[in-house]
Amino acid sequence: MNSFLDTFYGNRTAKEALVLYKQDGRFPHAILLEGEPGCGRKTFARYLACAVECGEESGPCGRCLTCRKILSGIHPDVVLIDGAGCSRSFHIDEIRRLKSGVYIRPNEAERKIYILAEAQNMTVQAQNALLKVLEEPPAGVMFLLTCDNRARLLDTILSRVTVIPLEPLTPEECRRALGERYPGEPAQRLDWLCRVFGGNLGRCVAGVEDEKVRSQAERTARLLEKISRGDDYGLLTELSALEGSRGELDSCLEQLHRACSAAYVSAWRGERAGEDSFSLAPLQCKKILAIIEKAAEFSRQNMGLSLLITWLSAELQLAAR
Ligand SMILES: [Zn+2]
Repeated sequence: MNSFLDTFYGNRTAKEALVLYKQDGRFPHAILLEGEPGCGRKTFARYLACAVECGEESGPCGRCLTCRKILSGIHPDVVLIDGAGCSRSFHIDEIRRLKSGVYIRPNEAERKIYILAEAQNMTVQAQNALLKVLEEPPAGVMFLLTCDNRARLLDTILSRVTVIPLEPLTPEECRRALGERYPGEPAQRLDWLCRVFGGNLGRCVAGVEDEKVRSQAERTARLLEKISRGDDYGLLTELSALEGSRGELDSCLEQLHRACSAAYVSAWRGERAGEDSFSLAPLQCKKILAIIEKAAEFSRQNMGLSLLITWLSAELQLAAR
């Protein structure tokens, strides 16, 4: 595969699709990139845009002026419309603005590309407005949509796009990617970030760069260690520190769930996530996942934090035996 594409880790199938389109010289006029936040949907959309616009036959090269402009977000013919932020913020006005520009010819490239990020946040009215232009796109216009879950889009939209799913990395790929990106970071920290975030590179990067995310992830890593060691007292102490904030507890539960899901998959594959990997048998992971899901449900029902933590700690102690 071309060396520029290698800089997007994992996701071989998605990259192969891109290469095939480039070789054929024919890209679908609307592509939907589906994947959880942090798995590189917006980055991959830019790579796709490079593949469309780059003049090199074996491209995208990632080095020419066109590619560099696209990658740094300043290419006039690659327009990012971002509905990120609060849900349902992607309003029909955005689509109206898009439609007023869509028939104007590209400035300097062959094609005009619209990246519609977080398309699941589009209102129904916005989706219906987009539909008309997706049905009959002007020549030379391409749409790249990203979303977290295709089920959140109208069927009529889905029937007009080609879906390319993006997957989180395996723990090994994620660890390698982090090591290359942050050669100065302590190896152990990168190990447990991969573990806590289960191969989601975007979240791991946030864990390196954002102090708050890091300290939350550190706590999750300590909790996992205590669960797998059967350290009941340590487990209760760590969990008790969360009594002050439901938000903190909820995000800790989410991280624990993610880490245990990844550990479950690794355990079945017979892999180890890293040097200091905590070890839980698949059955234990499954039990713990069920407990975390139950705890998250209790939290949504507003169960008192101290009662919830006492329950959680007792259940986790039992499950780890
Ligand atoms: Zn190029």
